[in-house]
Amino acid sequence: MTSSPTAPLLNHTHDDISKATRAFLNAPPQLLIDGVMVDPRSGATMDVIDPGTGKKIAVAAVAGQADVDLAVAAARRAFDLRAPWRTMNALDRGRIIHRFARLLESHADELVELEVLDGGKLRHAAATVDIPLGVNHLDYFAGWTSKIEGNTIPVSVPDTMVRTEREPVGVVAQIVPWNYPLLMALWKVAPALAAGCTIILKPAENTPLTAIRLGQLALEAGLPAGVLNILTGYGAEAGEALVDHPGVDKIAFTGSTRVGKRIAARAASQVKRVTLELGGKSPNIVFADSPVDVAAAGAANAIFFNAGQACAAGSRLYIESRIFDDVIGELSSIASNLEIGHGLNPASTIGPVISSRQFDTVRNYIDGALAEGATVASGGSDLPTGVDQDGYYVRPTVLTDVNESMTAVREEIFGPVVVAQPFDDLEDIAQRANDSPYGLAAGIWTRDIGRANRLARMLQAGTVYINMYGATDAAAPFGGYKQSGYGRDMGHANLESYLETKSIWTNLAP
Ligand code: NAP
Ligand code: MG
Repeated sequence: MTSSPTAPLLNHTHDDISKATRAFLNAPPQLLIDGVMVDPRSGATMDVIDPGTGKKIAVAAVAGQADVDLAVAAARRAFDLRAPWRTMNALDRGRIIHRFARLLESHADELVELEVLDGGKLRHAAATVDIPLGVNHLDYFAGWTSKIEGNTIPVSVPDTMVRTEREPVGVVAQIVPWNYPLLMALWKVAPALAAGCTIILKPAENTPLTAIRLGQLALEAGLPAGVLNILTGYGAEAGEALVDHPGVDKIAFTGSTRVGKRIAARAASQVKRVTLELGGKSPNIVFADSPVDVAAAGAANAIFFNAGQACAAGSRLYIESRIFDDVIGELSSIASNLEIGHGLNPASTIGPVISSRQFDTVRNYIDGALAEGATVASGGSDLPTGVDQDGYYVRPTVLTDVNESMTAVREEIFGPVVVAQPFDDLEDIAQRANDSPYGLAAGIWTRDIGRANRLARMLQAGTVYINMYGATDAAAPFGGYKQSGYGRDMGHANLESYLETKSIWTNLAP
C-alpha cells in the first residue's frame, strides 16, 4: 500500500484543525531512527484511522526486521561510553528533559488534535489530562537525573571499601498501547531518559502519530541522535523483533495480559529485564453511607472516562444493597445523558472506542452478558443515534443481574461497560473484590475513613482510591498485583527498573 505524501488525507468534516496538524498528517510515512526521519526499509505502510469517522487521516510507516536492526544499532551506538549521552553530566541530561517538557507545552494544541483524531479522544480530555500529565511526567523525572546515587557499604572484610554505583540498564525497548498514546509513551520514555538509557519506542498500530511527534520534539530539545528511536508498526512484527533482539537489554511493556505473558516468556531465554503493566478488572466499592449522587458520579467517571478504555477503569461496581437501586438509577441517568460524539465536537462527553475490532468486541461482551442472564439498566449493544455511523460509537452501558461466574464480570472489556452487583458485608466484599486474576486498582466510597482504610489493606491491588477514582501522578507508583503485571510505572520506584547496581571493591591495605 502506498500513498502520495501530498494527497489530502485529512478525511473528515471538521475544518478547525490547525495548519501544523494538517502538515504533520500529510507528511510521508517515516520512522525516526538515529536522529533522522527515514523511509522504512520494509517499504510497508499502514492507514491511520480516525475512530470518530472510521476514515483514513494519514499513512504511517510499518517497521520490519531491517528497521528494527537499524534502530537497535543506533540505540547501541548512542549508549557507547564515549557517546554524548553517556559523557553528558546529569544536570545537562535533566535540562534536555525539561526542554522537552517545554516543547510539549508549546505544541500542546497540535498534540491534542493528533490525540483526538488518531485516538478518538475528547479534545477537552486530551487538553486537560493527556498533555499536562505528560508534561508533568517529564518535569518530575528531569529532576531525578542529578539524584541517582550509590552507597558506601560497611562490609566485614578488613581494609576494604565497597561502594555501589548506579548505571543505566542499557538499550530499552518500550512497547505501549493505544488508550493514552502520548501519555503511555511518556510514562516509559521519561524515566528511561532520566536514568541515561537509550530507547526504541513502538507505539500501538492504532495510534502511531503522537509517538513520532514526540520523537521529533525530543530531538529539537537537544536529545542526541539515536537516544530515542520511534518505530511505528505491528506488535507481531516490530514488537516481537524488539523482544527477541540480542541488542536490547530491557523491555518495558504496557498492554494486555495475553501479550505480556508472551513477551515475558520470550525475553526469559535471554534473561532480559522485563517490566509489565497489564490489564485490569478493577472493583469499585460503594458503601451505603456515601451520598448517592457522589457515588454515582464517581462510578460513572471511573468507567466512562476515555470511553472505558483505561487499564484502571472501575469496571466491576459493587454497591451496598440498601442503596443499590438508588445508585443504579442515578448512574443510569448519567449514562443515558452522556453526549456520544466526535472528540472535536465540544458538546461530546463520550467519544468512540478505538477501532472496528474493539467496537465488535465490546458489543459482543454486552450481548454475551445478556445471553447469560444480565439486565441492561442503561445503554446496550444497539447503535447510538445521531452519530457518524461509520465511527466506532458504543453506548455507555450499565449491566445488573450479573454474578462472578459470568464472562463480562471476569474478563476485561476495555469499553464503556460496567457490571454492577449488590453486597452486604465487608469481609464478603473484600473476598469478592479479590476474586479476579487481576489486581491493578480498586475504589472505595464511604464516609467511614477507618473502614475505608481497613478495606484498602485487604484489597489485592496496586492502587486503591478512597472517595475518588482514577487519578495518576508522576510521583505516585502505579502498577499491578497478580496478572496485572510487575514493576511500577511512575514514582522513583520506576527509576529502579532502568538502573543496574554495581558494587566496586577497593583494597585499602597499606
Ligand atoms: P496489546 O494488544 O497487548 O498491545 C499493546 C502493545 O503491544 C501494542 O503496541 C501492540 O502492537 C504490541 N504487541 C502486540 N502483540 C505483540 C507481540 N506479540 N510482541 C510484542 N508486542 C506486541 O494491548 P492493547 O489492546 O493495545 O491495549 C489494551 C490493554 O492494555 C488492556 O489490557 C489494558 O488494560 C492494558 N493497559 C494497561 C495499562 C497499565 O498501566 N497497566 C495502561 C494502559 C493499558 P499492535 O498495536 O500492533 O498490536
Ligand atoms: Mg487511529
